[in-house]
Amino acid sequence: MTQQHIDNLRAALQFSPENVMLRQLLAEALFNLAQYDNAELEYKEAIKIQSSEELKFGLSKTYYQVKKYSAAKFLLDEVLEKKPTYPPYNLLNAKICLAMDKLKDAKEQYDLAKSQDKSLTDDGFEEQLNQKIKDSGTALSNTDDFDLDALFSSDIEKPVIKFDAVGGMAQVKEEIALKVIHPIKNPEIYKAFGKPIGGGILLYGPPGCGKTLMARATAGEINANFIVVGVNDILDMWIGSSEKNLHQYFDNARQNKPCVIFFDEIDALAASRNDMRNNAGRSVINQFLAELDGIHSSNEGVLVLGATNSPWYLDAAFRRPGRFDRIIFVSPPDYAARLEILNILLKNKPTELIDYPSLAKITEEFSGADLKAVVDRAIESKIPESIRQGKVIPIGMNDLKNAVKLVSPSTKEWFSTAKNYALYSNEGGVYDDILKYLKMVK
Ligand code: ATP
Repeated sequence: MTQQHIDNLRAALQFSPENVMLRQLLAEALFNLAQYDNAELEYKEAIKIQSSEELKFGLSKTYYQVKKYSAAKFLLDEVLEKKPTYPPYNLLNAKICLAMDKLKDAKEQYDLAKSQDKSLTDDGFEEQLNQKIKDSGTALSNTDDFDLDALFSSDIEKPVIKFDAVGGMAQVKEEIALKVIHPIKNPEIYKAFGKPIGGGILLYGPPGCGKTLMARATAGEINANFIVVGVNDILDMWIGSSEKNLHQYFDNARQNKPCVIFFDEIDALAASRNDMRNNAGRSVINQFLAELDGIHSSNEGVLVLGATNSPWYLDAAFRRPGRFDRIIFVSPPDYAARLEILNILLKNKPTELIDYPSLAKITEEFSGADLKAVVDRAIESKIPESIRQGKVIPIGMNDLKNAVKLVSPSTKEWFSTAKNYALYSNEGGVYDDILKYLKMVK
């Protein structure tokens, strides 16, 4: 296997990108050359086209090499469910179990592999296993059993921040209050008027403008639990079993209500549905919609918030009533909002007298995250001097101004794409807010 071989496979795939066999060969070749990151990408791509046991095994093997043991185990367990005794699977399972300190399983799986195929005997592995068993000293057991529930429950937070930690965004706060906070605080009024509680809110806009912060503060406002789901993570980590994961996340939220469950990068879900060759993606979306609709279990007390930088990739099915029927634009902060954000970011920090208005003036088009970068840089610039002098030297206006010069505003690029969607696919005026922000309509 050589690099030339890989180049040839890539060239062939250019002509036939849907060819699963070719892609599998490429993934295997990359794996054999220890190019694990690229192998991972190709295995995932192949699984998206058409999943199979062999591909999942390949991806699991790759995950093992890059030490993503939970993901490797999760995938391999699926394969083993269908075929519990197959020496290469059992051997890989033994290795993953050893890495996860599940010594009992590791030994059982290794013995099973060896009993079927003597050639799989691996002295190095055996030695390592025996050493670990000896070191553990006690009867053979599986430490820290792989517990999916535990994996998910570790994602639950109880935020302490409230709306006042979010600068600007007055309209967003108001909408969230109306849709989410009042119904939770006054359920009997909503019930009396027969107004159903539920449905989600989708926040969209350029990166770094506080969508995640807002979601977290929403949970804080109503004293609810908070779960963040990075959609790309669930799609990536457990490709092929994302439906199960999604269900687990929702169930986790239902068991910990009141709960705000926040889906970041939600467009990653919808993008895969548009991609017609991707059956796996479609079923994840259907699962997501079913969970959102509360088809199998009630979503009372569960608030679903979603965020995306690319709402245009979102399938229209997401916008039906009871789903994400409110879509809110989170714009970059205006002057007044920048003033608030700068005050929030510098609160409790050692500063000289700061001219906030002029700082807000010179940071036009900066996102909240850009402002945070400015403050962080200003802080960093003071640390060496403080250490030298053995005392805290406060941040001054000049430090902040210098930091502003070093950070470039990150929101412009987003608007150059968004403008086209707002102008040419603005069905029902969904993107009117973008046009308003760009002063292209009144
Ligand atoms: P992305 O789309 O990249 O996920 P986002 O819109 O979710 O970005 P956040 O992750 O919420 O943005 O913002 C990043 C950081 O920037 C926050 O943790 C916070 O420190 C700061 N920040 C952004 N917006 C605000 C704001 N309105 N008020 C106070 N801080 C803010």
